[in-house]
Amino acid sequence: MVRRFEDILERVAEHDPNSDQDLLRRAYVFSAREHRNQKRRSGEPYLVHPLEVAYILAELRLDTASVVAGLLHDVVEDTLTTIDNVADYFGRDVAAIVEGVTKISKLNFQSTEQAQAENLRKMILAMTHDVRVILVKLADRIHNMRTLEHLKPEKRERIARETLDIFAPIANRLGIGKVKTELEDLSFRYIDPLAYRSLESALAARRKVSEEFIEETRKRLEQTIAEQGIEAEISGRVKHLYSIYRKMRAQKIGVDEVYDYVAFRVLTGSVKDCYGVLGIVHSSWRPVPGRIKDYIAMPKPNLYQSLHTSVMSDRGQPFEVQIRTHEMHAIAEEGIAAHWQYKEGAGDSDREQDRVAWLRQILDWQQDLQDPREFLELVKVDLYPEEVYAFTPKGEVLCFPRGATPIDFAYRIHTEVGNHCTGAKVNGRIVPLKYELENGDIVEIMTQPARTPSRDWLALARTSKARSKIRAWINQSERESALALGREMIDKEFRKYKLSPRKLLEGENLAQAMEKLGFKNLEDFQSSVGYGKSSAHQLVSALVPDTQKLEERPDGRVKRAVKRALGMREKGVKVQGLDDALITLARCCNPVRGEDIVGYITRGKGVSVHAVHCPNVAQLMFDTDRRIGVEWGSDSDGSTTFDVSVAVDVEDQPGLLAKIVSAISDESTNIKNLEANAETTGSETRVLFVFSVNDRKHMERVFNRIRQINGVRDVVRVPAVGAHNA
Ligand code: MN
Repeated sequence: MVRRFEDILERVAEHDPNSDQDLLRRAYVFSAREHRNQKRRSGEPYLVHPLEVAYILAELRLDTASVVAGLLHDVVEDTLTTIDNVADYFGRDVAAIVEGVTKISKLNFQSTEQAQAENLRKMILAMTHDVRVILVKLADRIHNMRTLEHLKPEKRERIARETLDIFAPIANRLGIGKVKTELEDLSFRYIDPLAYRSLESALAARRKVSEEFIEETRKRLEQTIAEQGIEAEISGRVKHLYSIYRKMRAQKIGVDEVYDYVAFRVLTGSVKDCYGVLGIVHSSWRPVPGRIKDYIAMPKPNLYQSLHTSVMSDRGQPFEVQIRTHEMHAIAEEGIAAHWQYKEGAGDSDREQDRVAWLRQILDWQQDLQDPREFLELVKVDLYPEEVYAFTPKGEVLCFPRGATPIDFAYRIHTEVGNHCTGAKVNGRIVPLKYELENGDIVEIMTQPARTPSRDWLALARTSKARSKIRAWINQSERESALALGREMIDKEFRKYKLSPRKLLEGENLAQAMEKLGFKNLEDFQSSVGYGKSSAHQLVSALVPDTQKLEERPDGRVKRAVKRALGMREKGVKVQGLDDALITLARCCNPVRGEDIVGYITRGKGVSVHAVHCPNVAQLMFDTDRRIGVEWGSDSDGSTTFDVSVAVDVEDQPGLLAKIVSAISDESTNIKNLEANAETTGSETRVLFVFSVNDRKHMERVFNRIRQINGVRDVVRVPAVGAHNA
């Protein structure tokens, strides 16, 4: 739909019957004439753009000068008109806004940090002079973002990034919730189109259920609140995409786990009624502990006020309820824009003064701080509430994502500091490693040479640097234990055949054997044995020319490898009524031949076969249409094998691991993976093994062998680990 000038006039007249219609009309005619031969990238006449921008400003119910400036905002930049012309025709007030917008348009926020700081400073300076400058600029950005598809992809991403980094946070800080929300969703769409589309379709798939749920819950809310004699306006919606996406990224969760993507808003006539409604909500649904936020008593820095609570529906679907007065709602949606609504300058409430005070404060800072980077740090604290700024004892500022812990801080300083970190002092007080950093914290990391990273740290680290360094350390230390284990197993193998490793593993001999086995050096082979990927016996065969003389142990490995190469990849499962269905054994339970199994038709991945005891089966089986009967087929040649993941809890004593490994090997079982010291509590260590068995009986034999070893406390099956170290 093409926006007509009359639409703008109507909008303005709605909230300001005394507006200067003549001024608006002259601005429209002027803009139309100045831009007459220009076209937008979309091919439309350029005038469409100032008309849309002016309409957005009228929707924000801003004063006439702002709307006029919206019509004229590009004339100085894109035509021969000067600021003086604008001042002559439309007055100083309008000219000052247009000049500010023109200046901001020339700033480049993609440049180096120093230049970016300087530019942000200029922009904030323009804002503090007259906030309407930034309001017009935001309206300009909204329309440009709405029509971004007409630009080249590189340019789209750059503008979207700038919008998300600079303009959405400013809209948020100025309390203009509806502008912030729109800018975030539009930016998200162009910055990560794939994530945007997949999230959009995931929510679309839930739409029917969500809509029914929203309508049902809304009605019930309305009824219960009315019964208590409170007048309220209630609406429900699915939260905006970017806020869901941000939550998913921050908590590393899937759409299904996003806690409460449905939110209800209850608008009341008084603060007292807000608390009344909160009570009603909590007596109708079970509140989720720790999720009640009282922003009425404690407004956010941008003066946002509301009560938030999350409750559990009868169906187990959590949802959020936001409760506020109509006035608070107007402030939440329009923020500082409210200051220029209705009559110019009049109606200054204390709150609006506060918001302007934020700008004044920034103006003061920028006079005090000569280093633009220091200024940027200060402004960032206010503009980016999702980031946390903490100091080193020497006063250096480091920036972290919210939720970061001393572990992130330690790795930021140095990998070695991270690897030996034992705890931290924050503002002089000792805190645990799980402590979440807050703005302004002075953090001093404590280290001990003997301390090393543990797997638990991965759950505490928020930054990718810390996480990757912790992983690297764990992999390295696992390699070391695999190496030690491999050495021990090879020694044992040599002893078994009364061979002397010292003689056999010398010079040429060794080099030839390594080449035969395809390893660079002995150490690589040893760790491969330790990980269970190679067997010690392979080395013996490679070193002793006439292995026939040695007593050989049965090894099914070669035979099985041949079978696999010949394409016999079926797992010996037959699906009812389907001859050659694609079958996968579910990784959550890894069923083994002989166990009771059920099939479940997946989307695009054929039939997934679960063991009946698998906890996921209970969930999947709600969908009876997709359930399908399966049974184990015959396995005449015993060629199929099944991977079993087990956790063995052992007392921490030397040599025990080797005993378990040889117990497993003695049952002609291949160890595919081994992860020692995964979790250690007190004197007990949990070791994770993955090995292959032919069937359930075979598996049980191996279990019994392990259980008989002195020092083994327990053997349990566990879900397959998503990523084997191999
Ligand atoms: Mn523009």
